[in-house]
Amino acid sequence: MTSAAKAIAVDLGGTNIRAALVSARGDVEQFTKVKVDDRSPEGIAADVARLIATLKGATRELGITMTVPSSVWTETGLVANAPNLGWRDVHFGPILERAAGLPVRLVNDLNAITYGEAMVGDGKGERDVVCVFIGTGVGMGAVSNGVLMEGADGLAPEIGHIKYESSVTGRRCGCGQLGCIEAYVGGRHLPELLRDVHENGTPSQLIQQRGADWANITSRDIEDAAVAGDRAARLLWHDIAERCAWLLGTVIMAWNPRVIVLGGGVLQTAPTLAKSVDDAVPRYAWSSFLQKLRIVQTTLGDNAGIIGAGLSAHHRRR
Ligand SMILES: [Zn+2]
Repeated sequence: MTSAAKAIAVDLGGTNIRAALVSARGDVEQFTKVKVDDRSPEGIAADVARLIATLKGATRELGITMTVPSSVWTETGLVANAPNLGWRDVHFGPILERAAGLPVRLVNDLNAITYGEAMVGDGKGERDVVCVFIGTGVGMGAVSNGVLMEGADGLAPEIGHIKYESSVTGRRCGCGQLGCIEAYVGGRHLPELLRDVHENGTPSQLIQQRGADWANITSRDIEDAAVAGDRAARLLWHDIAERCAWLLGTVIMAWNPRVIVLGGGVLQTAPTLAKSVDDAVPRYAWSSFLQKLRIVQTTLGDNAGIIGAGLSAHHRRR
């Protein structure tokens, strides 16, 4: 493969499909995107094929590397569960191969983001880099000794669904199981978590003001309320900061990373929460693990997944 080779990278989100060519250095070229309209696997495959057809000069042998917001069997192209798309157990890899006429490799979105951050983002130059995203859902990826850790089937790591509470009496998660950490810190659970604080003896002005619309409360709303003195919002942020610090401490103790890249809508829209998480982390991990550790906010932003997908295609051919 020459250094001029260009990989096709596609990023499938809940709202947009984005595609670009990615050089072996991680440069993004001919970026293009389309809004997701038809969410069926065939509809998405047709949209991706159309987007890819506009990219000029791709190296066909590198195929298509595409991120999906789901746990994914990388070898077979089976998408296990993508709630944003309404997919469960969809053999999307073969469907896209037929539509685009190129080999396809699917990767979990957080794994692609992590690879991008480790290779050209905040983790550049380090061999042990972890990304933890706390947004609508909770996810992570890990590069260990320079290699993306995907597990035997490509399914790992699904840190949002490790159990923080009992799997019998804990809160119900979007995955169907009970007690997952995502059900205690994830964005889609925040309105219910705030309502629970409100109903358990710490009234929330935010809940009272929003009335019947309480279910649409966002992390930014809770952040604003906490700053303005809403006691329930403050109590919830205190509890969530401890839970996030527990999660980061667990990751730190298990992986011994040199860099942790934090991202996701909840942390990015709530600076006081992010600060409390930072302050609490040392209580959840040994100081020996923290001495050389840098915890930073993502800087590659929306491009990290595209870059990571493209670079992983280049590096698999080495
Ligand atoms: Zn879960």
